[in-house]
Amino acid sequence: KELTDINALCEEYVRLCYHGLRAKENTFNATIITDFDPSLTGVNIIPQDMGRVIMNILTNAFYAVNEKKKRQIPGYDATVSIKTEHCGNKATIAVSDNGYGIPQQIIDKIFQPFFTTKPTGQGTGLGLSLSYDIVAKGHGGELKAETKEGEGSLFTITLPNTK
Ligand code: ADP
Ligand code: MG
Repeated sequence: KELTDINALCEEYVRLCYHGLRAKENTFNATIITDFDPSLTGVNIIPQDMGRVIMNILTNAFYAVNEKKKRQIPGYDATVSIKTEHCGNKATIAVSDNGYGIPQQIIDKIFQPFFTTKPTGQGTGLGLSLSYDIVAKGHGGELKAETKEGEGSLFTITLPNTK
C-alpha cells in the first residue's frame, strides 16, 4: 500500500473511463460532475486495485445512464458524479448516476460473482464482486449501494487510513 492522492486517482479514472466509452460508442456523452475534497492529502491504498474499483463502478454508472438515454425520455440529462470526502481518519468516494437504477428484488445479488442483468457479451457480472473484495478484504473498507429503480444509484466506498 502507498499513501495516494485519491482525488487525482479519481480524476484519472473518470477520464480513462469516459474516453474509453466514447471510443467504443461515439454518440455516447454524459455530464460529469466532480467534487473533490481538498483536505484529503493521502489515503493508504493499493493504487492499481482502487483504480480498478473506481473504474468498475464508473463503467456501471455510465452504462446505466447510456441505456436510460436510449429510452429517449424528454429532457433527460445523463449525469454521473464523483465526490470525495474526508471524515476524520476515513475517506469516502461516492459515485452517483441518474441512470435506470437497480430493482429492489436484485439489490442483494449485485455483489455476487457472475450476477449480471446485461446482455450476453456486455457484462461478466464480476465487476462489483471483485470491487467488494478489493475494498473489504484488501483495504478494510466498506462498499455500499443505494438505489431507486428508474431514478439512479449511489455507490459509496469508505476507506480507513486517511491523512
Ligand atoms: P456487470 O457490469 O458485468 O453486469 P457488475 O458486477 O459490475 O457486473 O454489476 C452487476 C449488476 O449490478 C449489473 O448487471 C446491474 O444489474 C447492476 N448494477 C451495477 N451498477 C449499476 C448502476 N450504476 N445502475 C444500475 N444497475 C447497476
Ligand atoms: Mg460492471
